[in-house]
Amino acid sequence: MKIVIIGAGHGGLTAAYGLAHGGHNVTVFEKKPKEKLSYDWHDDADPSVFKDLGIPMPPEGTYFRKREWSVNIPGTNEFMKLNQDPETLDISFRRRPLAHLLADRAESAGAKILFGTPVERLIADGARVSGVIAGGEKVRADLVIDSSGVMSPFRESLAAGSYVSTCKPDELFYNFRAFFEANEAAERNPVHTNRCYAKYMGKPGISWCIEDPDGSVNVLIGTAGGLKKAELDEILTQLKKDNPIIGEKILCGGIMTVIPVRYPSEKPMTDGYIAVGDAAFMTIPLIGSGIASSMRAGAMLADALNRDNSADIKTLWRYHVRFMREIGAEHIAIDCVKRWLLGADVAELNAVFGLGVIEEKDFIALMTGGMLKLSLGDMLKKAVAGRKNLPLMLKLGKMLLKSMMSEKTGRKIPAEYDAEKAAAWGKKIRKYFE
Ligand SMILES: Cc1cc2nc3c(=O)[nH]c(=O)nc-3n(C[C@H](O)[C@H](O)[C@H](O)COP(=O)(O)OP(=O)(O)OC[C@H]3O[C@@H](n4cnc5c(N)ncnc54)[C@H](O)[C@@H]3O)c2cc1C
Repeated sequence: MKIVIIGAGHGGLTAAYGLAHGGHNVTVFEKKPKEKLSYDWHDDADPSVFKDLGIPMPPEGTYFRKREWSVNIPGTNEFMKLNQDPETLDISFRRRPLAHLLADRAESAGAKILFGTPVERLIADGARVSGVIAGGEKVRADLVIDSSGVMSPFRESLAAGSYVSTCKPDELFYNFRAFFEANEAAERNPVHTNRCYAKYMGKPGISWCIEDPDGSVNVLIGTAGGLKKAELDEILTQLKKDNPIIGEKILCGGIMTVIPVRYPSEKPMTDGYIAVGDAAFMTIPLIGSGIASSMRAGAMLADALNRDNSADIKTLWRYHVRFMREIGAEHIAIDCVKRWLLGADVAELNAVFGLGVIEEKDFIALMTGGMLKLSLGDMLKKAVAGRKNLPLMLKLGKMLLKSMMSEKTGRKIPAEYDAEKAAAWGKKIRKYFE
């Protein structure tokens, strides 16, 4: 089969390797030159993805073991340290060497990567995609894999005809990311090195200040729906006051980025087209799941296409079923919890922490991409802990029930493609978020 991949992202490059290895004719179009691929900073990923997919680790010295998170108790200057099992801590990878490793691996399996060549648009005839226009040329393909990231214009062009799902503006996080020189006059925090704030200054989002092992200070300010310059300046000024270790000079990054914070697409495909990675959304890509999930999705897609030796929508759906059962359904449930946390006011969040309703182990689960799984015993224990604030407990209980139900619905994805059944299942999923 002839396969075109848009974007040398983690999902696209992992799929490119698997498909080229399976004997298919694979071309990846990447708009950036190779030396500018990905970002100039480091981010966290679950290292088990390398072992599971048989990918060698990037070169020594390009990654380090992440230290434990400390979560700010909303409305206070206190932190709760999440004492994680050292074995389960993420690894922070320099982005560019990781991207180069994935690209070299795909090329060594026979995939062709055309760097500096943006795809302009899809060649589509109604719901059927038959190729792309890239570098001013028509390139026909049996399948176009869209790995162009969260802002994919290709997915949007198909969404307009309702063939694939799309996301709303408040399902995007706008982030400022920068690595600052440390202010050497300020004292380092020996205990809480990785400080994370939910709804910092009341804004729906997440911010952090991390004292990196190389001495720089890793800052992220992310809010749902948008981040204006004036708002950013205000938040950064406060973050610097709360964390005097943040110096003046920006060493790398210092840019605005966008990430999806939406449950995985209920329908990322149409005939001849499928989106993977951020183009098919992610619930919590900031904390070690976006990179690993995109790589896993790319590998699963290649497996399905190689097994059936077809790019038919039935095969694409089989991939989607596996993705939903192994990753997606849990992310749907996490999205329910995340939206609740972002919607809660600071007093509610403070009460949830203060009453011990959400404990350290729950936060570790959330922060490491797991879900808030509470047994009946846990729920009762928490109900007792929360007796002083019954309305809040009821809200929390309702949200947890919804979260569990949504995961169940996610797992009940129709096993084989049937347009009507697929649409009915997608509608059920969307209902949890209306
Ligand atoms: C500030 C920030 C911090 C993050 N932190 C983490 C973290 O700690 N852990 C984690 O797991 N994830 C993190 N993520 C998320 C993670 O980056 C994504 O989930 C992951 O990169 C998604 O991979 P992808 O395969 O979808 O492709 P992407 O990495 O989004 O790559 C898409 C590629 O497509 C190319 N492209 C776009 N348009 C075109 C076009 N028209 N033609 C050709 N090429 C095109 C782009 O140049 C790019 O190379 C973070 C994201 C941001 C922005």
